[in-house]
Amino acid sequence: MYKVGSCLRGRAVPLSGTLRWRPPSSSTEFHLPAGALYQKTSPRHLPTDIPEMPPCSFKPEEYKGMSKERMMEIRRKNCNPMIMKVTSYKKPVFVHQGHMQWLWDVDGKRYLDLFAGVATVSVGHCHPRVTEAALQQLKRLWHTTNIYVYPPLHEYCEKLASHLPDPLKVVYLTNSGSEANELAMLMARLHTGNFDIITLRGSYHGGSPQTLGLTSNAAYKYPIAGASGCTNTMCPDVFRGPWGGSHCRDSPVQTIRDCGCAQGHCMANEQYIGQLKDTFATSVPSRIAAFFGEPIQGVGGAVQYPKNYLKEAYTLVRERGGVCIADEVQTGFGRTGTHFWGFQGHDVIPDMVTMAKGIGNGFPMGAVVTTPEIAVSFAKGVHFNTFGGNPMACAVASSVLDTIKEDGTQQISLNVGTYLMTELAKLRDKYEIIGDVRGKGLQIGVEMVKDKASRDPLPPEHVSEIFEDLKDMGVLIGKGGIFGQTFRVKPPMCITMEDADFFLAVFEKSVHNFMERR
Ligand code: PMP
Repeated sequence: MYKVGSCLRGRAVPLSGTLRWRPPSSSTEFHLPAGALYQKTSPRHLPTDIPEMPPCSFKPEEYKGMSKERMMEIRRKNCNPMIMKVTSYKKPVFVHQGHMQWLWDVDGKRYLDLFAGVATVSVGHCHPRVTEAALQQLKRLWHTTNIYVYPPLHEYCEKLASHLPDPLKVVYLTNSGSEANELAMLMARLHTGNFDIITLRGSYHGGSPQTLGLTSNAAYKYPIAGASGCTNTMCPDVFRGPWGGSHCRDSPVQTIRDCGCAQGHCMANEQYIGQLKDTFATSVPSRIAAFFGEPIQGVGGAVQYPKNYLKEAYTLVRERGGVCIADEVQTGFGRTGTHFWGFQGHDVIPDMVTMAKGIGNGFPMGAVVTTPEIAVSFAKGVHFNTFGGNPMACAVASSVLDTIKEDGTQQISLNVGTYLMTELAKLRDKYEIIGDVRGKGLQIGVEMVKDKASRDPLPPEHVSEIFEDLKDMGVLIGKGGIFGQTFRVKPPMCITMEDADFFLAVFEKSVHNFMERR
């Protein structure tokens, strides 16, 4: 069914990285139950060339807690039943400890974490500097709230604002991305006096009652009356959408689609902007409140738009009285490599920026940053948030901003991310089921297809096979896309070229294994 090596621009390349087989007995890195990984279930499974994981000198604590069986029992009985559904992997990963880009499970097996708790661990698990800042604050003051004046809040707000261009200078702190987006919806409506908000299909902006209206992905929808006033328009997805060519996006890798556009002209962009105009003409009133857009879709599978799409969309939105909101929950804090914020790569300045995830390296936190003018409109009522901007969150987030600078993580994102995408594109050219490689910096998507000609999504059970195999070989990545067809690579921004080579070798091996089993 699936062909190995048949390709559109066929060029076979050697495996990236060194492929060496290390017997389990000699490995201090993999503490596997005997035979767990290397079972000879079929001759094709023989692990003759599992790549060697880069070394790590950090020694995790020995796990002495609850058994795996007991955790699963509690998970079934006492936890939100949905988490059984979202648990990654048939044989789940029981995570015990983390250090920088590494995770250890309760058996002591080490994993290269390329998903970072869903693009959230920005500078590294338990980064020593951030951990130290948290400890210092933990000893000084855990909680007070913004009815008092306390230094960490003010230090942080000033520092965060200094990372944004004028006039984005007023900071509201929240505890999550959904909360930040919900606040932005309210502010946009109050400021403009309009109600309708437009988002792009395939987007994810949160799971709270209001933000579910923005989110455009059936998996997250409930059969109840949704948030009113939310309309979505066609996502300008230049790989999967009806239009797209070979120059459209701002990425080191373009699509495999042909392009007849003259230089400086993008037919796909014109078509997708036409769809937005159609939405304005048919689905919303003449005046709107806002347009929300992720600079690169996250949950949607690192979907990128044509280069000028957001710029032209912002103009059209503003002509209709709306404000433009960049959801930087995944793309912010240097992840896209070329810039600190994803919107800067689109050459736009939003009226509001929402953020979360990487802001606190895993500490629960979110923010909305907006203009003084919008802030004034919002001051009509009292907005209070008990935990938003609490001293712990502010101390952690402040240290995250310092660490991004001191560790040069934005530059790492650019260098390692560009290398990864360039190498992944070679695998795309080699394997028929790798349809697209895209992204910027360390916000990467690899879209899997049945074949390149149809671009039909690779079925979820097949995607899961590769996903499981990667995990068994020690690499954690994510899945996304509206059909669950896209692998997502969004590691802590401290990974190295050596880690990248290890991932590339493991990824190729798991794709190869999958093809061989067909
Ligand atoms: N916006 C985007 C782009 C996201 O990816 C997410 C979370 N996946 C959210 C908003 C919601 O954030 P949270 O889960 O912190 O509420």
